[in-house]
Amino acid sequence: MPLKQPESMDEIVYFSNRSLGGGKGSVKVWVFKQTCLKCRKEMMGKPRDSKGKVKTRADEYVCPACGNSVEKKAYEESLTANADYTCSGCGSSGESQIPFKRRNIEGIPTLRFQCGKCSANIDVTKKMKEKKGKGPAEEGIDEDA
Ligand SMILES: [Zn+2]
Ligand SMILES: [Zn+2]
Repeated sequence: MPLKQPESMDEIVYFSNRSLGGGKGSVKVWVFKQTCLKCRKEMMGKPRDSKGKVKTRADEYVCPACGNSVEKKAYEESLTANADYTCSGCGSSGESQIPFKRRNIEGIPTLRFQCGKCSANIDVTKKMKEKKGKGPAEEGIDEDA
């Protein structure tokens, strides 16, 4: 069964597209929002300000239906990160799912997937906030938007 792909950015909290091993491989990662566990009516998202603009730096997620709020880290770590990759080591393509929980690898918060064929690590490091609002919007949803 292929993994469910996001149809719009409204469905996800994270999206990234990276090349691996100098362009020999690639990985696409996405994380779906979760439905509010309290009322199960809406998906939890970042709160909006009075003008309706999403507060991307908020450290909580809220349910637009019932107002339930969950701390950002706790919410994100309960989500699942989906990956669609082409391994730079063996060239095979596959899909993988891990908890959306970054590990500190060589000092950088990293989502580590593994190739299902050769077990090579497929690392998706957290992008640091060096460019503000410029460049490709590949990681625009959560941290850089
Ligand atoms: Zn709710
Ligand atoms: Zn491989």
